[in-house]
Amino acid sequence: MILDKVDFTKVRQIVGTHEIPHLSGTVGIRLLRTNDETPENLRAAGAKFMGDDGWFITRDAPADLIYLESHLPRFAQQFLVPNVVDLIPSTSWFASLANLLTPAAWGVLRDECIAAAGGCEDCGTEKNLECHEIWAYDEDKGVQTLESLRSVCGYCHEGYHLGLANVRNRYCTAFNRLCTINRIEDHERSDYDALIFEKYLRRSDTEWVLNLGLLEGKELRVRGKYTEIAPGLIAGESGHGEIQVGITGVTVRATMADGEKVLIG
Ligand SMILES: [Zn+2]
Repeated sequence: MILDKVDFTKVRQIVGTHEIPHLSGTVGIRLLRTNDETPENLRAAGAKFMGDDGWFITRDAPADLIYLESHLPRFAQQFLVPNVVDLIPSTSWFASLANLLTPAAWGVLRDECIAAAGGCEDCGTEKNLECHEIWAYDEDKGVQTLESLRSVCGYCHEGYHLGLANVRNRYCTAFNRLCTINRIEDHERSDYDALIFEKYLRRSDTEWVLNLGLLEGKELRVRGKYTEIAPGLIAGESGHGEIQVGITGVTVRATMADGEKVLIG
């Protein structure tokens, strides 16, 4: 059941760089997407250039967090509403783009996402970058809609897949990091955990249809092992058992000689 003790919908604000939390494994506060700024503007906002590593702010020097907001990794943003992360419902575990698309097709989307951000959206590091699929779940319609792709490092990525982290015996590490990024206080942690898992369990009762409309117009190749068994319904052996995945927002336009399906909006 949902616990109402803590309000996770309110903005959590820091007043200056000295309040930016310390995140394990992250030395400095590295800025993202700085190519669209002039060095003068970045310096005026309190950022320092560190050569190949990019632009940074530090906790011991003031910085214009408002000006830099679109460049700050999540954990350092001045205003932040905690992310009650959407764990993938068990009914959709293997229906991710990464699993459905050919490695080449997924690689194009992943690389575009990582290049656009230039670092981890949550902690800023440029190392060990991966791409996380953000889905919005319409529980009345049973449709999960691809909202965005997010560039995250392997450590931050674990916070979005706490069940998987648990299987890997890394739950505490992943949850601690997730709490630090989202400014969850120690006394709030059990409520936060409960909210995340209550949502996950409720959604795991639904067979979800995937809406890929966000990628409309892109050529998306689905792995050859999956077959379109009805319009908008793809089935096949996922490597972890047989799955059936309903897809909307794009349609199968061609089946290639090697069995790959081409989806285009
Ligand atoms: Zn990270």
